[in-house]
Amino acid sequence: MDNREVARILNAMADMLEIKGDNPFRIRAYRRAAQNIEGLAEDVESLIARETLEEIPGIGKDLAAKIHEIATTGTFQEYEKLKAQVPSGVVELLTIPGVGPKTAQLFYKRKGIDSVARLEAAARAGELRGLPGIKAKTEENILRGIEMLKRASGRMPLGLALPLAQEITTRLRQVKGVTRIECAGSVRRMKETVGDIDILAVSAAPGKVMDAFIALPLVREVLAHGETKSSVMTRQGIQVDVLVVDPKAFGAAWLYFTGSKAHNIHLRDMAKKKGLKISEYGVFAERTGKRIAGKEEEEIYGTLGLPYIAPELREDTGEIEAALTGQLPDLITADDIRGDLHVHSTWSDGAHTIKEVVEAARRRGYRYIAITDHSKGLGIVRGLAAEDLTRQREEIDRLNQGLRDFRILAGIEVNIRADGTLDLPDGVLAKLDCVIASVHSAFRQDQQTMTERIVRAVGNPHVHVLGHPTGRLLGEREPYDLDFDRLLEAARANGVAMEINASPYRLDLNDAHARLAKEAGVPLVINTDTHTLAEFDHIHLGVATARRAWIEKKDVLNTLPLKQLLKRLAR
Ligand SMILES: [Zn+2]
Ligand SMILES: [Zn+2]
Repeated sequence: MDNREVARILNAMADMLEIKGDNPFRIRAYRRAAQNIEGLAEDVESLIARETLEEIPGIGKDLAAKIHEIATTGTFQEYEKLKAQVPSGVVELLTIPGVGPKTAQLFYKRKGIDSVARLEAAARAGELRGLPGIKAKTEENILRGIEMLKRASGRMPLGLALPLAQEITTRLRQVKGVTRIECAGSVRRMKETVGDIDILAVSAAPGKVMDAFIALPLVREVLAHGETKSSVMTRQGIQVDVLVVDPKAFGAAWLYFTGSKAHNIHLRDMAKKKGLKISEYGVFAERTGKRIAGKEEEEIYGTLGLPYIAPELREDTGEIEAALTGQLPDLITADDIRGDLHVHSTWSDGAHTIKEVVEAARRRGYRYIAITDHSKGLGIVRGLAAEDLTRQREEIDRLNQGLRDFRILAGIEVNIRADGTLDLPDGVLAKLDCVIASVHSAFRQDQQTMTERIVRAVGNPHVHVLGHPTGRLLGEREPYDLDFDRLLEAARANGVAMEINASPYRLDLNDAHARLAKEAGVPLVINTDTHTLAEFDHIHLGVATARRAWIEKKDVLNTLPLKQLLKRLAR
């Protein structure tokens, strides 16, 4: 049971209590516990083993017992009891962006709405307006949220699907007889959301692989159990298929199941013109049926006169043409990243001290990080004011004195106010090594207002980076309504870098926007926006997004050695 799942159940409990109108302190206790567990760098299970659960802030004896119960049984009694009282359709309303427990309760009590479908009908008919706090605009937002949900349904963020796929391959690799096992599909292409997980294996004893697969603890339901192919539904709600293939055809099957469909169709058309036939079983001469290739992907590309094409590029958006003319990008890798320029500490809402994040960054082999805590204002709790920054600077200077081959940059993540001005005066920003400007409020401005707002912020001479530039949260919040081309122009003109924020819930810029930024000559940075140490690992999601955007090392500022980076930031 991973921490996220424990947190999910605690949050679901809080949701139901809130729908019921329970004691707010109790509700807050569950939420706080969920948040703290999600932020842990260590597995709940190992804390249980060491009997140190109660050392987590906000977790007393009572909650510790419940968490223990969740970790061992997958749920807890009180939660199951409450689930029987609150209609599941009402809880489901909470998945709609913008619908909280209070609104869900309101709709249920006053209108008897107990499903998303009913809510949609009521909103369309204009039956919700007039309820306390509900206006025509609220109905519009609800419908928009439902639309978004429908589009995202059945897809899982890469940040959840990838570790799941890795866990399955790691476990099955240990099954006797398995000589090779790999992920295919959109997980391998590192697409930001994943519909299902495909895994290919080579084994002398396929039956053993199948048996081990369907017996994995993460399996909720076995959908099919065959001799060389099985499908399951996991407890996290995503389908996983495992297929055992002939080693002679592994490359062909891997290419086929990795996709994308458009990439494969393009390859097949090329093959046809050469009198060849490509399938999941290999490359064959059309006339004689003779097998020409199949064992490795490189061989298959080779029969078409192509070099190997990285999975992240296989979308038929120009990669085959580029491969034909030798113009494939030399894609950035995680090893190219020399430091993280967006890191929070206990000075704002981060979980660790500057010293702790520095140690973690050094263990990763980084040469620098920028501490970029939140600025005060807009009611962000524990945001920094000018005098806090002065004291923080003293701490950073002191720590830097004791460091060799590593540098802590003093930075800030300053709020972009609704009018495009920044939360801190220019004189304060001027003293910092790295200024990230981000939108954290007034998300729903119209296109013109939002575009002008951000363009104004980018025009501030002290801003180095635009943080999570489009504001989208995967499956939760759509990007701001923006004239992205104008924004790119402003960023380029001012030499401001755009961030690929690697948080699994953001991945912002996304692949398409990042590619546009590169093409427009806007520099990029790839940051994790770390609040807890474990989040440093998300860098590979940001790098994957960059690779999908055809980005090379030279396009990304935090691949630079420290000296050059400082020069670039100082402009
Ligand atoms: Zn932010
Ligand atoms: Zn941040």
